[in-house]
Amino acid sequence: MSTYTAPLADMRFALYDFLGAEALYARLPGCESATRDVIDAVLDEAAKLCGQALAPLNAVGDQEGCRYDKATASVATPTGFKQAYDQFVEGGWSGLTAPAEFGGQGLPESMGALVKEMIDSANLAWGTYPLLSHGATEALKQHGEKWQQDAFLKPIVEGRWTGTMCLTEPHCGTDLGLLKTRAEPAGDGVYRISGTKIFITAGEHDFTQNIVHLVLARLPDAPAGTKGISLFVVPKFKVARDGTMGARNALACGAIEHKMGIKGSATCVMNFDGAEGYLLGQPHRGLAAMFTMMNTARLAVGLQGQALIERAYQNALAYARERLQMRALSGAKFPDKPADPLIVHPDVRRMLLTQKAFSEGGRALGVYAYALVDIQHHGADEAERKRADELVSFLTPIVKGVLTEAAVECTNHALQIYGGHGYIAENGMEQFARDARITTIYEGTTQIQALDLLGRKVMQQQGVGLRHFMEEISAFCQAHARNDALVEFIGPLAVATKELGDLTMALGKRAIADPEEVGAAAVDYLFYSGYVALAYVWAKSVAAADASAHDADFKAAKRHTARFYFARILPRTRAHRAAIEAGADSLLAMPDALFG
Ligand SMILES: Cc1cc2nc3c(=O)[nH]c(=O)nc-3n(C[C@H](O)[C@H](O)[C@H](O)COP(=O)(O)OP(=O)(O)OC[C@H]3O[C@@H](n4cnc5c(N)ncnc54)[C@H](O)[C@@H]3O)c2cc1C
Repeated sequence: MSTYTAPLADMRFALYDFLGAEALYARLPGCESATRDVIDAVLDEAAKLCGQALAPLNAVGDQEGCRYDKATASVATPTGFKQAYDQFVEGGWSGLTAPAEFGGQGLPESMGALVKEMIDSANLAWGTYPLLSHGATEALKQHGEKWQQDAFLKPIVEGRWTGTMCLTEPHCGTDLGLLKTRAEPAGDGVYRISGTKIFITAGEHDFTQNIVHLVLARLPDAPAGTKGISLFVVPKFKVARDGTMGARNALACGAIEHKMGIKGSATCVMNFDGAEGYLLGQPHRGLAAMFTMMNTARLAVGLQGQALIERAYQNALAYARERLQMRALSGAKFPDKPADPLIVHPDVRRMLLTQKAFSEGGRALGVYAYALVDIQHHGADEAERKRADELVSFLTPIVKGVLTEAAVECTNHALQIYGGHGYIAENGMEQFARDARITTIYEGTTQIQALDLLGRKVMQQQGVGLRHFMEEISAFCQAHARNDALVEFIGPLAVATKELGDLTMALGKRAIADPEEVGAAAVDYLFYSGYVALAYVWAKSVAAADASAHDADFKAAKRHTARFYFARILPRTRAHRAAIEAGADSLLAMPDALFG
């Protein structure tokens, strides 16, 4: 069985030393209550909840999965999941970062991100239930009418109800323009929603009495394509304007999926048969409103990837210290033992360091992205809020795409370190590899993150977020130009950042001549940008560690890991650059018929 201990020391480092959270929260109106005492207490308590209540249920959820009862169209979650949810709600965790006016604690998102990491490390499948409530809260807060906010937000924030996100239909996944679910006006602001949604996370479960579905559907006069999509609030039990819960709505779970991983998470087919719904935001502007929810969820899925890397790494490291196999090539390191532990072998160290670099680097990157969300919400002046918005919108596909792909890589490294003992179920490593796989698919596949980054955020928006990002790195490099302790990182970081700018310019020109160049380059561009972003957070982590009160071992570990990152991971950009420069020809030249 795998174990989990929240990495509190590195979490505190990411927040206090890397981000400078105390000064940031003190100057952001509405975040002042997040003082160090408060944060430390929250992190300590979250570590207990996750370690004691959620982590032991991780294997249980995987073995049992969810059970669907056709007669009642109900879903039973794995043993212990509901009790853990009750504990979560009683502890006030569901409203940790939600606005105080709706019953939340209003704490900063960048601090909440660390609590989320602990939940996902402890039990990713369980974490999917509260995950979408967070996004639903954001969508209702930003787009809901007053009565909708009053009726729905408080119970969701208090954890008495949960939220879902209903986009996908059998014929329509990535291409939402194809969606067919209908919404007929029925008077008094009520709409009748009819259609089938598939793959709906937490569409049905036994945690709460009511479930609030946010459903994309078309009004009768809707234009074709994505411009004709509206968003509706469709609760399992109807809700009156005064917030009282009424009769059962005309919707039901028709089945649950059997799948590769996150088996404790209910993935539901949801049938809407003229269900009562209420328009959220403007007619035909549903996709924009849903994007509020999706952006929050995309960052959160990036964190799911990082959280899995962390837990897999913890276990792989412990195993690599204990398991004795072969001798070091340079001679016995532990002559008193029958063989050396795995950790002496260079290639095992490569896999361990890759996990450590992505976990700690990913944590810092996540905290940084969520701090931009805090500034976006609470920044004192408009210019600062706008910059944070543009920068986080550039970073979101990077966090989502790169940390989830890294999770697939790193959970497989953990499995590999266990050898055959990783492939069998008993040690829990193969579960992490299976669980990680979905993170590169839902909330927009890696390819869709890549197109969002290169096509929308860089090309369509004239690279405004990229410019902020490059300016920030450049300012960091200049500030440390004379810092001998950082010189080994600053040079390569500056080179890679300049190269990112040059690649972008060259791509922009090629894309004008042939739009297929964007699709051909996008995934390599996503990785390129991600490796530069991680190089920046690693260089900044070394500077932050050096300046901190942490002990010499902590500082040395940061420096060694950064050296590994710069020597062995950042150079991956060279292959991505070559692929980008190769252009679309080698992908498109072969006629479809010749594929075989
Ligand atoms: C466990 C699970 C939970 C989920 N939870 C939810 C949920 O809560 N709510 C919800 O609405 N949906 C949910 N989904 C659906 C998920 O978001 C979709 O599966 C995903 O968006 C991809 O859609 P698709 O599966 O139809 O693949 P398709 O859209 O058919 O795509 C197939 C492949 O083609 C690629 N592709 C498509 N278009 C392009 C393009 N233009 N350029 C390059 N590549 C392209 C895709 O990247 C993908 O690799 C969930 C799915 C799963 C499996």
